[in-house]
Amino acid sequence: MLDIAKIRKDYPILDRKIYNRPLVYLDNTATSQTPAEVVEAIVSGYTRTKANVHRGVHTLSMEATELQESARRRVKDFINAPSYEEIIFTRGTTEAINLVAASYGGAFLRDGDEIILSVMEHHSNIVPWQLLQRKADIKIRVIPIKDNGELDMDAYKALFNEHTRFVSVCHASNVLGTVNPVKEIVAIAHSHGVPVLVDGAQAAPHIKIDVQDIDADFYAFSAHKMYGPAGVGVLFGKRGLLEIMPPYQGGGEMIESVSFEKTTFAELPYKFEAGTPDFIGIAALHKAINYIENLGIENIAAHEHELLDYTTRRMTDEIPDMRIFGTAPGKCAIISFLVGNEHHYDMGMLLDKLGIAVRTGHHCAQPLMQALGVEGVVRASFAVYNTREECDLFLNALHRVSEMLR
Ligand code: PMP
Repeated sequence: MLDIAKIRKDYPILDRKIYNRPLVYLDNTATSQTPAEVVEAIVSGYTRTKANVHRGVHTLSMEATELQESARRRVKDFINAPSYEEIIFTRGTTEAINLVAASYGGAFLRDGDEIILSVMEHHSNIVPWQLLQRKADIKIRVIPIKDNGELDMDAYKALFNEHTRFVSVCHASNVLGTVNPVKEIVAIAHSHGVPVLVDGAQAAPHIKIDVQDIDADFYAFSAHKMYGPAGVGVLFGKRGLLEIMPPYQGGGEMIESVSFEKTTFAELPYKFEAGTPDFIGIAALHKAINYIENLGIENIAAHEHELLDYTTRRMTDEIPDMRIFGTAPGKCAIISFLVGNEHHYDMGMLLDKLGIAVRTGHHCAQPLMQALGVEGVVRASFAVYNTREECDLFLNALHRVSEMLR
């Protein structure tokens, strides 16, 4: 359905050679590449409209402000948020989660309270909550996974008690690819009166997000994983919660009035946007969303799944001692694997020599690695511009590398 050869023309980086071989970029889970039209928005932001937002009456400042605010309205529609005031721009998913942990957690969590995370969380959905533990004696309870990488929903339900105050889980795992039943997770938490944050970093590039359908209280994602620029992310929060939360950082943009005696804060969303934002990156995120929607997120996902199924089948059939971590039905196009006892780092290094970019290590998910009983894994992950030919190059390289190591 998609013309992948045409799509690839928008990514000059894909023509690069690595060790004199064509680059096969399969590290899309870490960050995806950026198409020409998004890069052009960044260039235009610096060469045609650069002026600080919200403070000027001059034309350039008003243009820059309009670019930023129209991006906010675009994000609102992209995730079907009820209003643009509930869209807060951050540096990324990490900052969005830190904002909620520090502001909501700092204000409302007390000694003896419990929060629920899952074992498949990225460190950025673990450590911000642990920082909170320095201020209050908060217990972190952990949802385990089943053998195929699905969350154990019975165990999840059993974690609730009268002390449970918050749930924070990923929509999709950056290692297992598992897509969690976030709507059900939220419904269960709400039946206990508990709010939920959904870390959508891995979902936003592949899955149509509807925060009202999920009924998420908070939803976070990063632009750089969805064909957009680095350094920009989004936090959606329900208005009722954002209104009662204290500011996360202080500074310009987030105030209504300041005196040494008393400072009052700006309305939403600016209360949570201290300092000059990356307004050029935010405008480029607008273009990245247009790009995804023009291609159709379902078409992107269908293409990625075709590559996932093809590659997974051949890896399993052809490579002796192949172990794939995460086989949940409907998973995202992510393959985490090990071959026999070979070290993930050696495999990654040798694959790189053959032009294949995969990621190795713990993938910022050390608790998950412990649960899987491994130190690290190799991860190949797909985006819209990857091709069947690239999968073949990857598989050939994998044959060579695993034979060599054996
Ligand atoms: N959560 C998940 C599931 C992720 O995969 C990542 C990025 N690897 C993050 C959070 C953090 O995103 P960022 O580094 O863009 O803040």
